[in-house]
Amino acid sequence: MCRNKIQNIRISNVGRKAGKKPVIERIPFQCIVPPHMLKEIAKRGDPKQRELALKHLMISERIRGRREAFGEFYVATSSGAKCLNVFDAKNGQELPGVQVQDPANSTDEAVKEAFGGADATYDMYHDVFERTSIDDKGMCINSTVHYEEKYDNAFWDGRQMVYGDGDGKLFNRFTISIDVIGHELTHGVTEHEAGLAYSDQSGALNESMSDVFGSLVKQRALNQTAAGADWLIGEGLLTSNVNGKALRSMKEPGTAYDDPVLGKDPQPAHMRDYQKLSLSEDNGGVHINSGIPNRAFCITAMEIGGYSWEKAGKIWYITLRDRLRSRSNFQDAANKTYQVAGVMYGSGSKEQLAVKKGWSTVGITVKTK
Ligand SMILES: [Zn+2]
Repeated sequence: MCRNKIQNIRISNVGRKAGKKPVIERIPFQCIVPPHMLKEIAKRGDPKQRELALKHLMISERIRGRREAFGEFYVATSSGAKCLNVFDAKNGQELPGVQVQDPANSTDEAVKEAFGGADATYDMYHDVFERTSIDDKGMCINSTVHYEEKYDNAFWDGRQMVYGDGDGKLFNRFTISIDVIGHELTHGVTEHEAGLAYSDQSGALNESMSDVFGSLVKQRALNQTAAGADWLIGEGLLTSNVNGKALRSMKEPGTAYDDPVLGKDPQPAHMRDYQKLSLSEDNGGVHINSGIPNRAFCITAMEIGGYSWEKAGKIWYITLRDRLRSRSNFQDAANKTYQVAGVMYGSGSKEQLAVKKGWSTVGITVKTK
């Protein structure tokens, strides 16, 4: 299965801001199920679950090799019109697979959900943040469903979305949670903007940005206010056999699950519990410490009130697009969101104070000058 190992690949100029030179950057292979959960399954699962975990790990290694062989980051551009495609791998490993005609009206649930999730994500970025697709140049969003057999993951491979059906014992099909779709596609947005390096605090910010905008896709699709949202990531993904409600909780990090096979949700909710991990452990805890900025966003949105995507979401989006750099850390994110809120809504405004409170609640004091 995916371990989110960092790899080197070349990125072309396509889809990046004008004037930037082609560069070699470190781009991860980003999966929704984090390595600490997978390690627990490998340790505590039944023999079948452990065998499946090993098999999927080998598949992931092959995908990494394939990506490195491409050499260039491939971006399919379109004429600027909304372009969403769904493919069916028919339980094999060939990508993208067979294209599905009229996916919006498919009788296959996974096809319909993959299309609907990509559509809702495209619409949020387009209608709220005035962004045209992942690269802001109208690239086609391609999704493949029914990847492999009983595959317990979903990932963005730098070119497209891929969804497994889940083993049915621990995980349901991976298209079931719309926020998971928004999460993975946001990895593409981050690659094209701040390019947050996928390790330590910048990596945890990268993960957090995906959770923030993934959750906003869900809240907007369900017409939920900040107060009415569940702030869970991957709600519905875990089967009823698992003692847990989701993969993560943005509102209460560390409380999403506590299960004999999956272990306990390890996310900290405050800087005092920040986990300093080596790069071999979840790239320095990118899926773990992301709980801290996740909670800062949630509190900011709740303080502002109303629909989270309208103000808090815009502050975070502008910060991601224009202010963060590849090695930005939590303190940078706090300072920059505070500055952006000041520019957008005024110095000392309710919105700016909400940002300050969001970060201070998780133990980060914004530098106001
Ligand atoms: Zn992710």
